[in-house]
Amino acid sequence: MHARRTKQRETIIKVLRSTTCHPTVDWIYNEVRKEIPNISLGTVYRNLKLLRESREILEIDLSGTFSRFDGNSDNHYHFRCDKCGRVFDIDEPVNKELDERVARKTGFEISHHRLEFRGLCQECQKAAE
Ligand code: ZN
Ligand code: MN
Repeated sequence: MHARRTKQRETIIKVLRSTTCHPTVDWIYNEVRKEIPNISLGTVYRNLKLLRESREILEIDLSGTFSRFDGNSDNHYHFRCDKCGRVFDIDEPVNKELDERVARKTGFEISHHRLEFRGLCQECQKAAE
């Protein structure tokens, strides 16, 4: 049983790290099923939760849409296109100084911050021309 769980989890991580598209659960489920045809959606959900709790993956909460997952668990910034909904990584260092400044100002203990840029991706800008 343990070995099977491990294989499921490893396959999910592999699938997530093979893409930069920040997929939804349904996308991950379809990809994982190519390798483990009898896996259930519930098992995928359960493993994603465990992987998130052990900080091996990130769950990106985008309000009003489905959760998306990220195989890169280091804190990093994202851009979400308002038109097509795609999520891109932003190659910009995380501003740790901001955490310290807000901690000093508020007395809160800050572990990290999330930042999501919004607007139109290049393709959607072209389509709007
Ligand atoms: Zn777009
Ligand atoms: Mn990302």
